Amino acid sequence: MTGPLLKVENLTKHYQLNGGFIKAGPVVRAVEDVSFSVTAGETLCIVGESGCGKSTIARLLMRIVEPTAGRVMVGGTDISSLKAHELRAWRRQMQMVFQDPYSSLNPRLTAAQIITEPVENFERLSRAQRRTLATDLLEKVGMSPEMMHRLPSEFSGGQRQRLGIARALALRPSIIVADEAVSALDVSVQAQILNLLMDLQQELGIALLFISHNLGVVKHIGHRVAVMYLGRIVELAPCEMFFANPSHPYAEALIAAAPIPTPTRVRLQVPVEGEVPSPINPPSGCAFHPRCPLAIEHCRVEVPHLVPMPDGRAVACHVRAPAADGATLPGTVPFDHSAARAE
Ligand code: ADP
Repeated sequence: MTGPLLKVENLTKHYQLNGGFIKAGPVVRAVEDVSFSVTAGETLCIVGESGCGKSTIARLLMRIVEPTAGRVMVGGTDISSLKAHELRAWRRQMQMVFQDPYSSLNPRLTAAQIITEPVENFERLSRAQRRTLATDLLEKVGMSPEMMHRLPSEFSGGQRQRLGIARALALRPSIIVADEAVSALDVSVQAQILNLLMDLQQELGIALLFISHNLGVVKHIGHRVAVMYLGRIVELAPCEMFFANPSHPYAEALIAAAPIPTPTRVRLQVPVEGEVPSPINPPSGCAFHPRCPLAIEHCRVEVPHLVPMPDGRAVACHVRAPAADGATLPGTVPFDHSAARAE
């Protein structure tokens, strides 16, 4: 097929927290109006600090949680409106690799049972079929078929994550969502697992959505990167462009703070201070404005939307990417951080 395999449109997730007897509790704005697409053979990385909504996006895609608004299209089908029985067939297409290979594998099942289980949920396999499938899958992830009778406790962290990947591949999915898939592994093992994912993705033409807070890992594996801040994408760019020349001030700050060698010096002149605010009561306008060294008054008032730039990226920033129709911004005076802090 042509076009994106996975297309997400205006995806939004608000969690309503419990309040007292009478009042409803506060709302957590975990994901706000997020749109992106991923094509076959492409890796889109989602990055951002803890709590910015990355895992919620993964859960929304897998329909582990239901969206407040927006839709998820897989191969042209809107899966966000499918009923439970219709979802079953679709689930074959999109599989997930989880962060923790220690807790995500059933300790009582053998490697063969673990990796063939997704197929057995759909069809009964004979012993011989199970053996053949387990052999194929283990070989695909670089493990010896002789290991198929071992229990998870007999494997190292890297081997367990290989099993997690083999299980995700069992149904021959066209899309894989990997949520912090190497974060629990030793640095020396991370590169092996990343290379395995990259090789398999190219061989099988999989669309890979790779969620990570680690920019070094993203630089290694990504084709494009989406930077999230408080539930929204603030920059969506080809990886090379992003690392060489980030545009959004938050993207610059992230790269400046990351322990990775960068090809060019980032332009950040004033350090970004403070913590990520709570998604329960996010700042008005651009949620980054209280921390942004470039903020102007207008940033306090209006939420910036992702604007396509001539170089191929999209940026949500009134200063770096003013909207075409916003040529005369009402408040171009610098935002007064000290006055805001004093309030
Ligand atoms: P990340 O993966 O980037 O660390 P998450 O998607 O896990 O971020 O969380 C985004 C925000 O949503 C956080 O503030 C988190 O506390 C909140 N959140 C996540 N799941 C729930 C839930 N089930 N109920 C209430 N709030 C939640």
